[in-house]
Amino acid sequence: MSTLAELRATVATLHAELTRYNLVSWTAGNVSARVPGEDLMVIKPSGVSYDDLGPDTMVVTDLHGELVEGALAPSSDTAAHAYVYRHMPEVGGVAHTHSPYATAWAARGEPIPCVLTMIADEFGGDIPVGPFALIGDDSIGRGIVETLRDSRSPAVLMAGHGPFTVGKDARAAVKAAVMLEDVARTVHFAHQLGTPHVIDKAHVDRLYARYQNVYGQ
Ligand SMILES: [Zn+2]
Repeated sequence: MSTLAELRATVATLHAELTRYNLVSWTAGNVSARVPGEDLMVIKPSGVSYDDLGPDTMVVTDLHGELVEGALAPSSDTAAHAYVYRHMPEVGGVAHTHSPYATAWAARGEPIPCVLTMIADEFGGDIPVGPFALIGDDSIGRGIVETLRDSRSPAVLMAGHGPFTVGKDARAAVKAAVMLEDVARTVHFAHQLGTPHVIDKAHVDRLYARYQNVYGQ
């Protein structure tokens, strides 16, 4: 299989993770992958039911969101994904959801504080809030990139909207979206019970370095 065919299959399969973890409702949410070595990306089509997503329904666009291959119109968030790929060469995948707990933090415009080792591991500190931005131009993409540049976090909570996550590939971006919702829920519960304790910066740095470099197989 060509790289493009593999990426279409991978991106289609990863959309099933969004429904499996209850991160999306109806047709909201989207995942994309950069095509290595090309100024192209594979992304979900706009407004198609999750049950109808397969390798053949995925669309290919250039990094300005112009359709290159596919019968359907690309996701309405394509411009934001494309902006991220143009400005963050290290990013190979982007995911966007309105997962309820993470989006509740976004609605309040409040960063998720680094109060759990899991947040230090995966996000390297507080999970930041990005600006409120309207769909239709580069505003969302610019807000994502400007916020993530100042942070080790692969997730940004766009104010009044919801999370965008990035990764070295699409799977890593989806993993960050799943982990984000998990910690957003737990820290929300902790807030109901009192004031969670913020982890020391030195400990956060050690946890992050270990998890990013040593953890796993
Ligand atoms: Zn959205």
